[in-house]
Amino acid sequence: MIIVMQNTATHKMVEHVVRVVAEHDLKTEVMHGEQRVAIGVIGDRTKLDEGNVMRLPGVKEILLVSKPYKQVSREFKPENTIVKISEEVAFGAGKPVIIAGPCGVESEDQINIIAKGVKKLGAGMLRGGAFKPRTSPYSFQGMGEEGLRLLKAAGKANGLPVVTECVSVQDLPLFEKHKIDMIQIGARNMQNFDLLIKAAETGLPILLKRGMSATVEEFLLAAEYIFNRGNKNVVLCERGIRTFEQSTRNILDLNSLALIKEISHLPIVADPSHSAGRYDLVTPLARAGLAAGADGIIVEVHHKPDEALSDGKQSLTLESFETLMNDCRKCYI
Ligand code: PEP
Ligand code: MN
Repeated sequence: MIIVMQNTATHKMVEHVVRVVAEHDLKTEVMHGEQRVAIGVIGDRTKLDEGNVMRLPGVKEILLVSKPYKQVSREFKPENTIVKISEEVAFGAGKPVIIAGPCGVESEDQINIIAKGVKKLGAGMLRGGAFKPRTSPYSFQGMGEEGLRLLKAAGKANGLPVVTECVSVQDLPLFEKHKIDMIQIGARNMQNFDLLIKAAETGLPILLKRGMSATVEEFLLAAEYIFNRGNKNVVLCERGIRTFEQSTRNILDLNSLALIKEISHLPIVADPSHSAGRYDLVTPLARAGLAAGADGIIVEVHHKPDEALSDGKQSLTLESFETLMNDCRKCYI
């Protein structure tokens, strides 16, 4: 529910409405628009009698948010959300953010070479998994805490904030300890609600990937879990979904990406690497993602893809990452 105040409503009137709503055990979010103030009511709206709210001084109208996700919807907040990571990096602020790096951190040399290379070519953030959620238990599972340390050190040395995946609630303190700049919640954990809640409670920005079979509504409701814990620094990631088509790993769902830009105020990035599953399709899909309105790209880069311990087939070399950067620049400069 959104309570829209008259444009003549005073600060005191707004405060009074907020107090009345709080007395009904509901949370509020006061939004200052150009013309007037609106108060978003979060929680079970049946606790509040609409007629009584309408009679409060300064109230103009009540709008009901029709979607099951509330706080992440554009109905609730019309302006784009900007998620700021550092002085130089912000999602949703106009200039797309390019996140690049290996699927997994494998060694100090590997992450340093890649960090240096992608920074030089214009990446804004460094990625690299330390805890890898692999389909097979026999595949490389990541370096664990040491991977976090190496990733952060490589990011710091090259002036790149870092994003890396957390797969388990018990590992979250390590992300804080190593000053990880953004926590990735992977496709396989999009509906791990306990992880969403606990990751949200760290207050760190969250990169939330779409589950491989999740609907747009389920995706936005997962983001709503994070908002509901008071963390509004959420960047969505379209990373491809499963369909009947078997010729590529997944399908980059640009329909949903463009739709989400309309129905939600959250920034969203495209992941052409996990969508395509093969390096030669990554650059065209990155261009397509930006053309469809993505606020950035997350892409896997490895200095020796043939030797990568995970996702080598879809990893770009540093040379082909340069082509991607040149092509992407044409899409937005
Ligand atoms: C990844 O980013 O390396 C990853 C495992 O992605 P996803 O969760 O989208 O499969
Ligand atoms: Mn990967």
